[in-house]
Amino acid sequence: MQVTKRIHAIKIPFKVPLSPEMSIDRFAFVYLVFGNKIHLIDSGVAGAESTIWEYIKEHGRKPKEVSSLILTHSHPDHIGSAKSVKSQTDCTVFAHKLEQEWIEDTEQQFKDRPVPGFKTLVEGPVVVDRFLGGGEIIELEKGVSCKIIHTPGHSKGSISLLFEDEKTLFTADALAYPGDLPIYEDIFACLASIKILQKIDNVENLLSSWEAPLQGQEKIFRRMNESIAYLERIHTAVINNSLINKQQNIMELCQKVVSELGLPPFVVMPLVAKAFASSLIAEQNKQIAQPDA
Ligand SMILES: [Zn+2]
Repeated sequence: MQVTKRIHAIKIPFKVPLSPEMSIDRFAFVYLVFGNKIHLIDSGVAGAESTIWEYIKEHGRKPKEVSSLILTHSHPDHIGSAKSVKSQTDCTVFAHKLEQEWIEDTEQQFKDRPVPGFKTLVEGPVVVDRFLGGGEIIELEKGVSCKIIHTPGHSKGSISLLFEDEKTLFTADALAYPGDLPIYEDIFACLASIKILQKIDNVENLLSSWEAPLQGQEKIFRRMNESIAYLERIHTAVINNSLINKQQNIMELCQKVVSELGLPPFVVMPLVAKAFASSLIAEQNKQIAQPDA
């Protein structure tokens, strides 16, 4: 679907197998910026390139015109088809330095973060050609520029992108959607990142990976507030439940928190438990930093 003059969104559905009998349906949006060339923001899971090529052809353009692939971070639903995109277009691959290892060594990513179905979601590694830090403006082609905003928390090197000319902000997975999987590495960094995004003026289009494009400044501000409230609710539930029973292991704690948040039982999984464990560490570090608080 077309969002602005230049920007288009494609929804890529995929399945995450939880067991031989059960899988969950997920999706992630990838975005295209049409100029003289075509610039892709995230690649979607393995195989998504055929959906992207089809979309490009439907709009009278050629996949070979893709000259940039900006990876917002290294998770499978963002880099899964990057290898094919790179090999079929020879585009420049951009990512934050802190995501390099898991993009260039997907075996290592699987060892460190064994997402169910990882091998079916990720084709393989791709080399990052240009590193992003945050704060810089990159010119993708003459007249098409975007500002890079470092928004850590969901992952260390997560980035958001601001296309000022199109009044459009890409937040990837920086926002947490009430009722959705709580996945983060550093809850306080997540909250700080959202507050940075909220301060950006004149954003008419919010483009994230887990929700259809949202339009209107007020709606976008409210969406970010809901995201902050959801993350705070998760963190409070984790801390309160950890205090009730100090003997429980992290999966038991995960089960209690998921139930208190009213999330479906399949959400009790190691990936979510790991996020909750990071909440406990973040809270301990906060207490050490502010002993009288
Ligand atoms: Zn992610």
